[in-house]
Amino acid sequence: MTIFNEKQQELTEKIDADAHIKNWRDWKWQVKHSIRDVDTFETLLGIQFPEKQRKQIDKTIEKFPLSITPYYFSLIDEEDYSNDPVFKQSFPSPSELIINRHDMLDPLAEDKDSPVPLITHRYPDRVLFHISNTCSMYCRHCTRKRKVGDHDSIPNKTEILNGIKYIAETPQVRDVLLSGGDPFLLSDNCLDWILTELRKIPHLEVIRIGTRTPVVLPYRITDELVEMLKKHQPLWINTHFNHPREITTSSKESLAKLADAGFPLGNQSVLLAGVNDCPRIIKKLVHRLVQNRVRPYYLYQCDLSEGLAHFRTPVGKGIEIMESLIGHTSGFAVPTYVVDAPGGGGKIPLMPNYIISWSTNKVILRNYEGVITTYKEPDSYEPYFCDRNCDSCDLQLKLESPEETKAIGIEKLLSDYDKTYTLTPRNIERITRRNGQS
Ligand SMILES: *Cc1c(COP(=O)(O)O)cnc(C)c1O
Repeated sequence: MTIFNEKQQELTEKIDADAHIKNWRDWKWQVKHSIRDVDTFETLLGIQFPEKQRKQIDKTIEKFPLSITPYYFSLIDEEDYSNDPVFKQSFPSPSELIINRHDMLDPLAEDKDSPVPLITHRYPDRVLFHISNTCSMYCRHCTRKRKVGDHDSIPNKTEILNGIKYIAETPQVRDVLLSGGDPFLLSDNCLDWILTELRKIPHLEVIRIGTRTPVVLPYRITDELVEMLKKHQPLWINTHFNHPREITTSSKESLAKLADAGFPLGNQSVLLAGVNDCPRIIKKLVHRLVQNRVRPYYLYQCDLSEGLAHFRTPVGKGIEIMESLIGHTSGFAVPTYVVDAPGGGGKIPLMPNYIISWSTNKVILRNYEGVITTYKEPDSYEPYFCDRNCDSCDLQLKLESPEETKAIGIEKLLSDYDKTYTLTPRNIERITRRNGQS
């Protein structure tokens, strides 16, 4: 028997006079009754914003719309809503209208790195596939804020087919990340169809799904959905918890269903000022995640998207948080802290420094406690020359036709078989002068 709490009971009645409490656990009811206007929000929370503030909120919603599932709304602490992490992630702040000089509409250049609509192909062997443009809850910190509620860009079947075709025709792609929007807002049938089509592609090894439904709409993880997904293994599922308070009985149930079905679960968090920019909060979050068989994957520095200025922290806050995790807690509870490079350079991992110094055969390191130690390197390591011809090497990579791409960037500088020894920006004055050009 499922136990509903009083708050859920009360909210169900307030939201939908005809509803039975059982509707609370029906994800379609939740989506249909998502809170999309300030009046409803005020009534349900039993508050009224002062007129001036209300005007600013209305103005904000015109640009960046509002949507909160009744479930996620129910997590807001009415007594102290303005400091509540759920409120701050879901309710518009007039600060969203402040645009700083360095803010951008598409900071990650996802639209530019798009060979066909819906696909972002940035890294050599994997692509992002935006199969859905809808979400049940509009995160105020969404990096794709520019697209939220934009009905013109709802993917249609032809566009999805073209995306699948691109992956099928691009043999380097061995990993596809289904994202959006939230892929789990598509119907089971539609998802089943997309996954079936993708599974026909022989070179596609891994399919990943990024979804926030376990956080904002846990009832979406139905037995039927899980049964359908199980047909398409290997599937990796990544979710997006930002605060330990989001890990509730309902969200735990949804995670358990996915974990029991055998999907490796990961979590991506965004570091958000006023929400989780605190080592103790993040530590509690990662502990709750691993208790529920979710591996913390990334902690993102907040992107430079327009409307997010008030959520950004200095990078130092992220380093401080990593310092408080590494060594202090289980290695698998520690996410990788990344800055997604503005302009589309991809994710760049950042960590506190552990290398203090280095000589020809000694490295001086420090640990999480501040202990300084020496690692003695071997005196007699024989480097081998790699021309990528495994036949002439003692190390045996005996795989059939290893489909390797050419080394690029720093990897190329480190390689033996490529003569490149410097990467030089185009059009630097010194080089132009050298070539006698003007
Ligand atoms: C994050 C991301 C991926 C996946 O990167 P991983 O580091 O493999 O998780 C792929 N494509 C784009 C455009 C991304 O932003």
